[in-house]
Amino acid sequence: MIDQLRELTTRLMLIPGLSGYEGRVRKALAAELTALGVTSKSDRLGNLMATLPGDPAAPSVMLFAHMDQLGLIVRKIEANGLVRVERLGGVPEKSLPAQPVLFCVGEGRDVPGLIANKSHHATGQDEKYRVLPYPELYIDAGFASAAEVLAAGIDVGTPIVYAPKAIALAGQRLAGTSIDDRAACAVIIEAARALLLIKARPTLHLVFSVQEEFNLRGAVTAAQALKPDIAIQLDLILATDTPEMTARGDVRLGGGPAMSLYSFHGRGTLNGTIPHPALVKLFAQTASREGISLQRSAHIGALTDSSYVQLLHAGVASIDLGFPCRYTHSALEVCDVSDLVGLTGLLVKAIASIDKSFSLERDDYPQ
Ligand SMILES: [Zn+2]
Repeated sequence: MIDQLRELTTRLMLIPGLSGYEGRVRKALAAELTALGVTSKSDRLGNLMATLPGDPAAPSVMLFAHMDQLGLIVRKIEANGLVRVERLGGVPEKSLPAQPVLFCVGEGRDVPGLIANKSHHATGQDEKYRVLPYPELYIDAGFASAAEVLAAGIDVGTPIVYAPKAIALAGQRLAGTSIDDRAACAVIIEAARALLLIKARPTLHLVFSVQEEFNLRGAVTAAQALKPDIAIQLDLILATDTPEMTARGDVRLGGGPAMSLYSFHGRGTLNGTIPHPALVKLFAQTASREGISLQRSAHIGALTDSSYVQLLHAGVASIDLGFPCRYTHSALEVCDVSDLVGLTGLLVKAIASIDKSFSLERDDYPQ
């Protein structure tokens, strides 16, 4: 399974899919589902959905991950052919200069460029340690005039992503663009492959959602249509095993999948997810029964669209699970493929064990 997960994650990482422009990723994932014999459909926002019917007496499950990625949008084309941008999603400005990027004009017509970094020989002492705000940055794609830019199909509003790349590091580690959240998309495909072989299981909806990096609400329309009892959201979990992160927790890359016990984001969002206790118990017990090491995470500063999905209808029992990830939202995120294997195994065993006796009554301090 590790080779399949590495191969599929890598392949998905190399497909550009800025929030609102997920079509190419959607096409690739729909093809993966078709290869599994699963029919999928999409809604008007672009969410890709498939249902594996199961025991109707058991609570239904929506397993989801976002297929979009963060990036930039063309804001202004300068007369000299340089391009100014807006940010889309949580793009860290300090990771932008000297990055290669890709203007997504259309398959086969995409245009490479780079985010300029002022020549070092002209950089003053006072500028050396300063992070440039994005309005001061510009993209150089080799054009000498605005007319040349437009002729290449680039205009105000054109989506831009980090130039897609994937690098195999030592051991099972993988670096590159949009590991967030293509790694989780790959996990869903592999979990579905295994769950299709299991007869006794609940109805399972697979959702590859859109616009998570934009407004965290793309999955909402899918959940409204599917009306699941349980929502399991897959995304990165912050790895805290590098020097600058140690005070935040004990999540190790390669230490196994992780479960979020608390997320919150207060900068204008005021939302987060406190997981349903029955799901915390389900995953903790499944992990210990199956000998899978399950790490725990609780921190402020990030959230996922489970925060919004949980509030639908009479409430959807929700939880965030994921894989440890380093250097998030930069062009070179790092994960360990062995964690994706552990996450897939955990999901398969836990979901298969949800039957009609599975209670979503709240017991806030389960044994
Ligand atoms: Zn994500």
